[in-house]
Amino acid sequence: MAKPTGFMEYQRELPTDRPPQERIKDWQEFHLQFPDDKLVVQAARCMDCGIPFCHTGVLLNGMASGCPINNLIPEWNDLVYRGLWRQALDRLLKTNNFPEFTGRVCPAPCEASCTLGINDPPVTIKNIEKTIIERGFAEGWIVPAPPAVRTGKKVAIVGSGPAGLACADQLNKAGHWVTVFERADRIGGLLIYGIPNMKLDKEVVQRRVDLMAAEGVTFVTGTEVGKNYPAEKLLSEFDAVVLCGGATKPRDLPVEGRALKGIHFAMEFLHGNTQHLLNGHGENNFGYPFISAEGKDVVVIGGGDTGTDCVGTSLRHNCRSLIQLEILNRPPDTRQPDNPWPEWPKVYTVDYGQEEAHAIYGSDPRTYSVTARRFIGDKKGNVKEVEIVQVEWVKDENGRFSPREIPGTEQTRPAQLVLLAMGFLGPEDTIFESLNVERDRRSNVKADYGKFATSLPGVFAAGDMRRGQSLVVWAINEGRGAARECDRYLMGETVLP
Ligand SMILES: Cc1cc2nc3c(=O)[nH]c(=O)nc-3n(C[C@H](O)[C@H](O)[C@H](O)COP(=O)(O)OP(=O)(O)OC[C@H]3O[C@@H](n4cnc5c(N)ncnc54)[C@H](O)[C@@H]3O)c2cc1C
Ligand code: SF4
Repeated sequence: MAKPTGFMEYQRELPTDRPPQERIKDWQEFHLQFPDDKLVVQAARCMDCGIPFCHTGVLLNGMASGCPINNLIPEWNDLVYRGLWRQALDRLLKTNNFPEFTGRVCPAPCEASCTLGINDPPVTIKNIEKTIIERGFAEGWIVPAPPAVRTGKKVAIVGSGPAGLACADQLNKAGHWVTVFERADRIGGLLIYGIPNMKLDKEVVQRRVDLMAAEGVTFVTGTEVGKNYPAEKLLSEFDAVVLCGGATKPRDLPVEGRALKGIHFAMEFLHGNTQHLLNGHGENNFGYPFISAEGKDVVVIGGGDTGTDCVGTSLRHNCRSLIQLEILNRPPDTRQPDNPWPEWPKVYTVDYGQEEAHAIYGSDPRTYSVTARRFIGDKKGNVKEVEIVQVEWVKDENGRFSPREIPGTEQTRPAQLVLLAMGFLGPEDTIFESLNVERDRRSNVKADYGKFATSLPGVFAAGDMRRGQSLVVWAINEGRGAARECDRYLMGETVLP
């Protein structure tokens, strides 16, 4: 245990973020680094409690409680407190292939279930995780470590998001020859073309990709399996295949005026923006054209994380005004009796995008219990307004809640750019036109969690493509699990955790 009385002596402290007014002028990450001496004090707050809920990684009420990859949190807190950074890094890398990603973008269900959090602010686990891995890179401790022996088996992975990368890393460690196929022009999946730069710098992703390539993983970009690379060829040329293609089919809003110009899915906007930043103003061979929010009244439909990324991106374009619509009711400020610790707290929070909008416009851009009824266009077919209406949530005869419009609450809001960020409906279909794997009722690839085997022998599935749109940390968990089962399939037994 770090320091027996640490949790009583020290307050929770995080590095201050860059001020919103300053950070919206660029695309740099907004979280700053903490000096080591301050971090050590934070590690000292860990109580090393008898049952560390922080690393359980279970689903409670459908939400993650504790770390989904079972990071050995109290152990590395103790090592950091004692200044044993190298050992802390080794302990962290036992369970997490990519702490530099989770240390930046994970919502940290570990902290929500930290025992200290019952009556005090929890340990700053995520920030400690990020500091350990960044120290590892800075000290030069992280160098390519290719496997000593190769098995001669070849595995194809479709998709290079965190699930595909974690799977590739594990299978490569087990000595298999791994090829990752990616339809985009860059490796990283939503780490590159979903999560914006200010949350995750793209050089951080490239640093890991370069390391994996130096360890022997082959990356093939610009290749969409099922389109310009036949799925049958994959099955015949490789000993096993792991499908990690994500779940990026967006939910639409088919109301009057939807066909007007200026209404886009969030991913078109975010993808086009990141590609524009990485490529400059040149032609894009893949993906979406750049969409500018500059000088526009922006309406973001959807109050979740993707919507928040649209808010942060629009502000950096210097939009004129911005509102974010959320159909659900505003969450309570504190945990309710039916949402006790260590469940994920369903409470009102202010994320970076709302904080920035508040700093510029003076208020939270979110409006709750509201939906868009129709889009109104100008003579040229461009959207110019959105008609919105308030809703109330009423129980139907089956006991299910659904939204009902409240008559007389209609309003119109100016909008030259509308961004639809209402969630995702499952994987895109291209690959399934030639790869006949069973799908579940939500259209995800059917494969039991833990086994990850699809209906086709030797074909496995992991990440969002199997579980639906989720989190980076779950994608890593699934990528590791699918690698383990794939290794077992290839070798009859497995060396992977
Ligand atoms: C805007 C946005 C912001 C997010 N922010 C966060 C966050 O802050 N924190 C967090 O934890 N999670 C976040 N998420 C969720 C997280 O990014 C995903 O859960 C995670 O990336 C899923 O990983 P994956 O590897 O399963 O799939 P993906 O990351 O979606 O990667 C799948 C890859 O497969 C490729 N592909 C698909 N089909 C083919 C094919 N046929 N051939 C070749 N390649 C193919 C795709 O191009 C893609 O690159 C966010 C999601 C979005 C959309
Ligand atoms: S991966 Fe996420 S849940 Fe796990 S320790 Fe890191 S921040 Fe916490």
